[in-house]
Amino acid sequence: MELAKREDCTGCGACLEICPKKAISYRDDHEGFPTPVIDSGKCVECGLCQKVCPVFAPPEKTGIKAAYAAQLSDDPETLKESTSGGVFTALAREILRRGGIVFGCVWNESYEAVIVSAENEEELKPMHGSKYVWSSTNGSFPKVKQALEEGREVLFTGLPCQGAGLKNYLRKEYPNLCILVFFCGGAPSPLAFKEYLKTITKDVPSEKLDFKFRDKEKYGTGVHISYQGKKERIHQSYVGNPYFFSYHTKVFHRPCCYHCRYRYETRYEDLTMGDYWGLGEFHKEPDFHAGVSALLVNTPKGEEMLEAVRDHLELIPTKPEYIAKHNNLTIGNAVKTFNPPPFRDAFIEKMKKSGWKAAERRYLIINKTRIKLTVKRKLPKKTQELIRKLLSR
Ligand SMILES: Cc1cc2nc3c(=O)[nH]c(=O)nc-3n(C[C@H](O)[C@H](O)[C@H](O)COP(=O)(O)OP(=O)(O)OC[C@H]3O[C@@H](n4cnc5c(N)ncnc54)[C@H](O)[C@@H]3O)c2cc1C
Repeated sequence: MELAKREDCTGCGACLEICPKKAISYRDDHEGFPTPVIDSGKCVECGLCQKVCPVFAPPEKTGIKAAYAAQLSDDPETLKESTSGGVFTALAREILRRGGIVFGCVWNESYEAVIVSAENEEELKPMHGSKYVWSSTNGSFPKVKQALEEGREVLFTGLPCQGAGLKNYLRKEYPNLCILVFFCGGAPSPLAFKEYLKTITKDVPSEKLDFKFRDKEKYGTGVHISYQGKKERIHQSYVGNPYFFSYHTKVFHRPCCYHCRYRYETRYEDLTMGDYWGLGEFHKEPDFHAGVSALLVNTPKGEEMLEAVRDHLELIPTKPEYIAKHNNLTIGNAVKTFNPPPFRDAFIEKMKKSGWKAAERRYLIINKTRIKLTVKRKLPKKTQELIRKLLSR
């Protein structure tokens, strides 16, 4: 049986979970992305693996029913821990109130991003915060199915391709399931993240690291990393931090991310969440400086969930086109591809041979984009304008 090609496979795990003969296993490829391998001796050619694969069989599209700017309105502490405006928390708490179960992404003890379940407020906490690295569905699909069959409400949150994989895996609509995915700029190599982490865990053991990709503590809402250094907590911008800079310039995304259909096509999941950059351009907003989410409502289940959590959110109706303007997604049916930087493969090779620091020195220090962004961030606006004028003569 043919599985998705390495460059297309999202690694969602649907094929592995559905195979009745356990003929499919996952092995890390040379970039650290788990990729399915089939044992043809065990395979009985039933074709289920292709039927549930989001590459071969994308789920049916729903379109978008409504769009909002949203912020968690009754819990400022949790809003601070949330990446954007905290819509995840509002929805997850509603599921817990109904005695349901929430699936979301946490760091495991090896600092790998994995999807696990939460049945109480305490278990929700580690799910806060975007982990900008490819995550594993970690055997969660059969657990989701079991909970749904038992009649429990389930909220599944994850990468858009994971939500699509789950929908296919279930092969049936469940009124007690809500799929919530985020706008996704791409999922980077777990191997690259591991190699980067080695450089900052020399003096501080990983259990004390408390690594946060979008920490609001020191600089408020934005794209700032923080982690525990030897003496004090380190705060870095996305340009200053080499890993987060690599994420933003798409150096080592999973190969499928460069032509992802789930990033662009309108939509198949119940709800879509993300950052609402540039809100003030379109709305005279209330004070949303503590973080604001963009929220798309796509199905009747999504509408029902939003109604249920309305009292916990500050909501402003908006338009999908406004959200798309400053976000790296398009709203429409076109799959827009993008290219990695030309040094992508060389970076990975160097990193594997000589470690993260060597690859960083070779490709990320004298890097035109990074230098431009650093200058832009450091110089006052007027000086930047002057330089721009001089350069355009
Ligand atoms: C790799 C990645 C790329 C993203 N790209 C964009 C983008 O281009 N544009 C945009 O607007 N928003 C993007 N986001 C989403 C955004 O950063 C927020 O996660 C989202 O708006 C939710 O914010 P919140 O305040 O409601 O949730 P929080 O309380 O911070 O919850 C975070 C949610 O994201 C889930 N999650 C975190 N990391 C992962 C992961 N690695 N895999 C699967 N699920 C995960 C958690 O389970 C939880 O549901 C991205 C997130 C990730 C992880």
